[in-house]
Amino acid sequence: MDSQPCSGLKVLIVGAGFAGLTAAIECRRRGADVILFESAKDRRQLGDIISFGSNSGRIFRRWPGVEEALDPICHHSDGLDFRAFDDDFLIRQIWDSEEAWGKRFNGHRGEIHGIVWNHAVSIGVEIRLSSKVSEYFETDTEAGVVVHGEKISGDCVLAGDGVRSTARTIVLGFEDKPKSSGYAVYRSWMSTEPLKKDPLTAWLADPSKDLHVGWLGPDVHFLVATLQNGTACSWVLTHKDEADVEESWSAPGYVEDAIKTVEGWTPIVHAIIRATPEDRLVDWKLVFRDPLPTWVSPKARIALIGDAAHPFLPTSIQGASQSMEDGVTAAVCLELAGKSKVPEAIRAYEKIRYERVHAVQQTGVTNRDNWHKADFDQVKKNPESVKLPRQPWILNFDCQQHAYDVYAETVKSLQAGSDVPQSRAAL
Ligand SMILES: Cc1cc2nc3c(=O)[nH]c(=O)nc-3n(C[C@H](O)[C@H](O)[C@H](O)COP(=O)(O)OP(=O)(O)OC[C@H]3O[C@@H](n4cnc5c(N)ncnc54)[C@H](O)[C@@H]3O)c2cc1C
Repeated sequence: MDSQPCSGLKVLIVGAGFAGLTAAIECRRRGADVILFESAKDRRQLGDIISFGSNSGRIFRRWPGVEEALDPICHHSDGLDFRAFDDDFLIRQIWDSEEAWGKRFNGHRGEIHGIVWNHAVSIGVEIRLSSKVSEYFETDTEAGVVVHGEKISGDCVLAGDGVRSTARTIVLGFEDKPKSSGYAVYRSWMSTEPLKKDPLTAWLADPSKDLHVGWLGPDVHFLVATLQNGTACSWVLTHKDEADVEESWSAPGYVEDAIKTVEGWTPIVHAIIRATPEDRLVDWKLVFRDPLPTWVSPKARIALIGDAAHPFLPTSIQGASQSMEDGVTAAVCLELAGKSKVPEAIRAYEKIRYERVHAVQQTGVTNRDNWHKADFDQVKKNPESVKLPRQPWILNFDCQQHAYDVYAETVKSLQAGSDVPQSRAAL
């Protein structure tokens, strides 16, 4: 950027996930002073597979050097093979029709996170580790956080503190409890070395190409992706689970429990699960939260971003992308409003994002039910029905351009008290 439209603006950001890092990078690119508070004591290589659609891929590509760093570590296949639970081939979904929409990035969350983190630091984002925010405050002229008893103020706070957000309680004035979604996911990221030893699974360790295969059965789906020249493999197994809600990215999973959810399935799926080292297996409970009535604090100087505002089911394949779109949109709004009109920017951010996010969130339920509630006799007759819907309104979308396009009319409708949702224009 040639100009520095946000210079003089001090933005405090909570949480160095993809929402917080994107907001930090985008505010910093526009010249704001940014302090990012992260409760973890160091940046660790956490998680497993994460997906960024072409709508967020274009955000990475605007950051110098990031696409080049992501390419070698990400998954590159031109399609997804669907098979039935008994290994009958159903259909191959090819992504070529989406090429014009831009580039997707799917890979290890920790590795991608490291690249984005390093980019943030390289452009001058100050990241404070071991900095758990314990309180938030706002006045008519500033907003801030309390960290280890110290009060730190800025023009606004963007709170991207994840699914267990405490900022959410401040904004809402009550604690929003999660509900069980009735499903859970066993997840693993592993080396392909153990797979090479079994003829049933050795084909997955193909150094010449990345593979993406999904096996679908009644109320269960199992997806495998290989990457990094056939050396790494990630799989997810989504199944019914009525257990009580405890969200965690690190709850241990057990091979025998995972096997029970695919009884009667093809031996290939059993062999992949049995080859998985148990210390590489996570049991992740999926929770629902009803859409929040607002993401903005009473004086409109604190805004929720990312999962803090809107946790996603993984079957939307959009949680991380939408958290990045939040960060970009908030930064554009702050740029256009300027230091003297920060509350206007924060309200416009919410209005621009709210309907789009909730429409995308719904696709997590519809995609899941399409696979899980399918009648498999019908699926075999009409395999097209299992293809993932790939909607251009989600994926062929430039959130930065959209924010620039609709900001003025959004502010006008806010001032008029109108409730016309601006993001509908793009749906
Ligand atoms: C450890 C971890 C592993 C994950 N692994 C995967 C994965 O494998 N695949 C996948 O699809 N998604 C994964 N996710 C979730 C995914 O990153 C998010 O759903 C999505 O990217 C939206 O990100 P976010 O920035 O809103 O939230 P998150 O990524 O959850 O980031 C929130 C951040 O806020 C920090 N934080 C929380 N409270 C405070 C506080 N009070 N003060 C300061 N900092 C605070 C957290 O430490 C965290 O770094 C993982 C998240 C985490 C935290």
